[in-house]
Amino acid sequence: MTQNFTYVLALDQGTTSSRAIVFDKKGQLVSVAQKEFTQYFPQQGWVEHDPQEIWTSQSSVMVEALLSKNILPSQIAAIGITNQRETTIVWDKKTGKAIYPAIVWQDRRTSAYCDSLKQAGHTEMIAQKTGLLLDAYFSATKIRWILAHVPGAREKAHAGELAFGTVDTWLIWNLTAGKSHLTDVTNASRTLLFNIHTQQWDQELLQLFDIPASLLPQVTSCSGHLAETAGDVLQAKIPITGIAGDQQAALFGQLCTQAGMAKTTYGTGCFLVMNTGNVAVRSSNQLLTTIAWKIGNEITYALEGSVFIGGAAIQWLRDGLQLFSDAKESEKLATSIPDNEGVYFVPALAGLGAPHWDQQARGAFFGITRGTGIAHFTRAALEAIAYQVYDVIQAMEKDCGTPLKELRVDGGATANSFLMQFQADLLNCPINRPKIIETTALGAAFLAGLAVGFWKSQEELQQLWQSDRKFSPQMEEEKRQKLVHFWNKAVQRTKHWQE
Ligand code: ADP
Repeated sequence: MTQNFTYVLALDQGTTSSRAIVFDKKGQLVSVAQKEFTQYFPQQGWVEHDPQEIWTSQSSVMVEALLSKNILPSQIAAIGITNQRETTIVWDKKTGKAIYPAIVWQDRRTSAYCDSLKQAGHTEMIAQKTGLLLDAYFSATKIRWILAHVPGAREKAHAGELAFGTVDTWLIWNLTAGKSHLTDVTNASRTLLFNIHTQQWDQELLQLFDIPASLLPQVTSCSGHLAETAGDVLQAKIPITGIAGDQQAALFGQLCTQAGMAKTTYGTGCFLVMNTGNVAVRSSNQLLTTIAWKIGNEITYALEGSVFIGGAAIQWLRDGLQLFSDAKESEKLATSIPDNEGVYFVPALAGLGAPHWDQQARGAFFGITRGTGIAHFTRAALEAIAYQVYDVIQAMEKDCGTPLKELRVDGGATANSFLMQFQADLLNCPINRPKIIETTALGAAFLAGLAVGFWKSQEELQQLWQSDRKFSPQMEEEKRQKLVHFWNKAVQRTKHWQE
């Protein structure tokens, strides 16, 4: 029956823009529409979005992606959703109106509260149940903040009149005209309220954060008949059959479906996720344990680590120091010298993330001499991106006990072939860059298409994943050791800088 359908529609609701992408059976991108929306910074450290604008931008690009290529809703086999994670929305079930703006994952307003919970000794229990660190990043303390600060919210919540959702949940509520209040396991696993082992909302955590269970969405798998669009949204009832948070969707879009496979997204920051199969590996190196996806009854876990300053290091050289005018030029500059000539850069511009976690660290260049020029600064910055990814991969390998066989990559900075080759050299492992770099949307499409038989199996999907270029390690061991030695030394010297 599904033979008549031509496309799968992916909705990719990101932090700065909403996108809709139509894929065909070959996994090729047929149509794309994108719309940026407003970022609100009401106070130092606060970041908000307008939930209504999230929905209107997402629904308008959805329509535009179809109209611009004359695609009929009846040709869409299924919708897959992927989204910025952790961002928190609370709305009134009767009116469907949010009672407060969306508090975005980047928002730090609940940091002090998180510190007080750490001091009260809750870190271990939370890590054991959720796989996460006690941090303002995740949803629970944001929900608590909304209930505490919006007049009457707590009473309404206890009376069962409010709904909480991450952005996937909010979109589905609107796509189904309020019929479905649900989320998938990957988004649930970023709330600090979800036990990733039992796969249920956790009573003890709900009590700790003082959040009534009636607020919470039903938790589903990532691929299956999850919901259906209301007739007036696209003038057709289209099944919603795939959901995953953005990083998990990218891992699936990269088809890292076997334990030990990993992907890195090189954007503003670098986001690393490694599939650990059906084992929730507890990290000894401050990585997060998270749910990669659940398909049918089978759950897959992952380890995750992020680097704060990735491509942003190149942005800073371009816009802050004005060393060049286009990020592309960084490759030519870096390769204009035979090697780093002893110059290293630790981009701890916002402290250091995984696996160092030092908020007091600050950035520094090392090994500068009279001969140092723009090329050295640029090369050191590109190499720094690779060293930071190397550090996270090392931590992942230690936690899992198995060496990485191949790293699949996506994101804007993967256009830099020097960076990719240096990364392969450092990791001593091949880097594989796919032809389709829209891996996040592709992952959501894959999850949705699998559920309706648009694609028959993960094996069939593997045939669709095509490599654009593979970078093989070429560096001698001795040189690698030397580079890593100096990098480690440089990192140590940036730590605990702020007093
Ligand atoms: P995001 O989704 O975080 O906005 P993108 O995936 O669009 O990021 O990637 C943009 C980042 O990649 C920027 O930080 C930019 O500096 C970096 N970048 C883009 N092209 C290059 C390049 N050729 N070499 C190095 N860095 C690059």
